[in-house]
Amino acid sequence: MTKKTTSGRLGNTNRGFTLIECLVVVALMAIMVALLFSSQKKVLEFANKVKCTGHMRNFAVALNAYTSDNSGILPPSAYGGVNNGEVAIYLMPYMGITYTSKNLDMVLNMLECTGKSWRFGFNSYLSQKPVALVERPSEQIYGIDLYSGRWLDSNVLGWKTTDLTQRTPKPHGGKVTVMFLDGHCESRKVSELTRAQVTRNTSSYLSSDETKAIGSTDYDQ
Ligand SMILES: [Zn+2]
Repeated sequence: MTKKTTSGRLGNTNRGFTLIECLVVVALMAIMVALLFSSQKKVLEFANKVKCTGHMRNFAVALNAYTSDNSGILPPSAYGGVNNGEVAIYLMPYMGITYTSKNLDMVLNMLECTGKSWRFGFNSYLSQKPVALVERPSEQIYGIDLYSGRWLDSNVLGWKTTDLTQRTPKPHGGKVTVMFLDGHCESRKVSELTRAQVTRNTSSYLSSDETKAIGSTDYDQ
């Protein structure tokens, strides 16, 4: 009798995990790892957005100082134009940075967005134009995150296919950082931005630009 009882107890004590229990543990671990990576990704995305917007605000402040100092004329910002439209060259002194090739590299690095080829580009249509020409500066796009681009021009607006007008994943959770001419910066979906916000008050403006989005909702990804 005693032997039977002992044997029964030992049998219960050493019972292993069932297959279902093992699967539940594995599933829980998978969920925990996924949550960890997901929150880490969100934190990184948020940090990138803050960094990108912060740099753009610095350029916006410098742009305001530059135009005040240059009779209200915006700096060259067109591909192939003066200094190849590298706006940073003109804004450096207004950021308290002396022009040297090393310092220029540093300022150009500030134009980098996520380090995955996204970079800030400036509006070519407004190259060397007077600020007073623009009726609604708070709606006029002066700069925007571009994929491998430096100039916001006809290519970007979709006459050729580009990052903003394709299903290219955008750098800030489906959005790009935009600097408006009044100096404020926002993260926006490409489907929320119109071509008119780039071309308005320039010779390239068409009335149809008012209702044409830069990109469709399919490209908000
Ligand atoms: Zn960005």
